[in-house]
Amino acid sequence: MDLELDDEALAFRDEVRAWLAANVPDPPLPSMDTEEGFLRHREWERHLADARFSVVTWPERYTGRAASLLQWVLFEEEYYAAGAPGRVGQNGLFLLAPTLFAHGTQEQRDRLLPAMARGEQVWAQAWSEPEAGSDLAAIRSTAVRTDGGWKLSGQKTWSSRAAFADKGFGLFRSDQQAHRHRGLTYAMFDLRAEGVSIRPIAQLDGDPGFAEIFLDEVFVPDHDIIGEPGEGWRVAMSTANNERGLSLRSPGRFLATAERLRKLWKERGDAADTSTQDRVVDAWIRARAYQLYTFTTLTRLSEGESLGPESSVTKLFWSRLDTAMQETALDLLGPESELSGEAAVESGKWADGYLFSLAGPIYGGTDQIQRNIIGERILGLPKEPEVDKGVPFSEVRVS
Ligand SMILES: Cc1cc2nc3c(=O)[nH]c(=O)nc-3n(C[C@H](O)[C@H](O)[C@H](O)COP(=O)(O)OP(=O)(O)OC[C@H]3O[C@@H](n4cnc5c(N)ncnc54)[C@H](O)[C@@H]3O)c2cc1C
Repeated sequence: MDLELDDEALAFRDEVRAWLAANVPDPPLPSMDTEEGFLRHREWERHLADARFSVVTWPERYTGRAASLLQWVLFEEEYYAAGAPGRVGQNGLFLLAPTLFAHGTQEQRDRLLPAMARGEQVWAQAWSEPEAGSDLAAIRSTAVRTDGGWKLSGQKTWSSRAAFADKGFGLFRSDQQAHRHRGLTYAMFDLRAEGVSIRPIAQLDGDPGFAEIFLDEVFVPDHDIIGEPGEGWRVAMSTANNERGLSLRSPGRFLATAERLRKLWKERGDAADTSTQDRVVDAWIRARAYQLYTFTTLTRLSEGESLGPESSVTKLFWSRLDTAMQETALDLLGPESELSGEAAVESGKWADGYLFSLAGPIYGGTDQIQRNIIGERILGLPKEPEVDKGVPFSEVRVS
């Protein structure tokens, strides 16, 4: 691709920059993992959608601008550089929506996307279970056929923002006899439906950023199944590739952190401390490398290719980069890094960022799992032994 931006891209970037300069809340919104913060972030989503900046790549009929992926990358760069609020709707916008575009029906897209874009319906990802995290195919929650739909039962866990969200999407075992990667069905459900109980879980910072979801014969109509029943694994893998490879963590996020780190070094760094200086420079170079690599991905996508196992390389790269940058900042701040609130540098944003970066090597598939995928599917190394090859799920022992 041509790295010189054309007039259209430059005009778009200027429009985004000007709008953000006039609209980004100051002081920043409270944490979206609190009830008040969640509501304020929901309002922010509506505000973004009114300006048609919520989902720039979506078609205009769904509140988007039909913008190119390059424009999306530019939007994200401006968004993070401006210190704009985190996206409370991100699991719907960046995980479920791409899945609906690829595997959903027209009726589902028409019904669900506008409310998602405006933050009127915030979605929680309900994939993980107590015995199914890395080994997602070990899912035990069930979908049982009933008149006009399915009944969902089981327990989901670590569901981000489910404590306050409206809807959930997840995988359910609909065929006990099938091989465990088959017999899974991808369903959407209402978090306030009869039979759903939500139990919030506090994260490291004490806020209920997660929840457990208990489902007891929760009815979902047929029109809330994505793809064919039993085809949920295939549908889910396209969601996972999006999450790891592009949509969840754009380069803008890391470029903005690298720039904050550079400024911190200018203010706090000791020129004699070449080791820390090297870490700052290394972070800046890696953030820029990630941006350029993303341009390669965009070029491939625009030529009709899709994201595959290389998404694991991307995920591994950004999760390590984020932790390295936050750690370098804490080292620069020294004992001050432990301060929070008004007294702290940037109101404690570095300490918060550090704590959250520790989750990067876990969510979206752990670093070890990404390495397994890279080893097996890119480098062609021998596969991990499959405990259950060809065995129906009902006969598999999950320890
Ligand atoms: C901040 C955050 C947000 C999250 N949000 C959501 C969400 O919204 N929805 C959702 O469904 N889930 C969510 N998760 C859950 C996340 O997807 C899981 O935590 C993750 O997939 C790991 O699963 P687990 O916790 O069960 O760990 P386990 O799978 O039990 O893994 C434990 C350890 O063993 C290692 N391990 C496991 N299997 C292998 C193997 N085959 N080879 C090598 N090492 C292995 C892992 O890498 C890890 O270090 C979130 C997690 C975090 C931290």
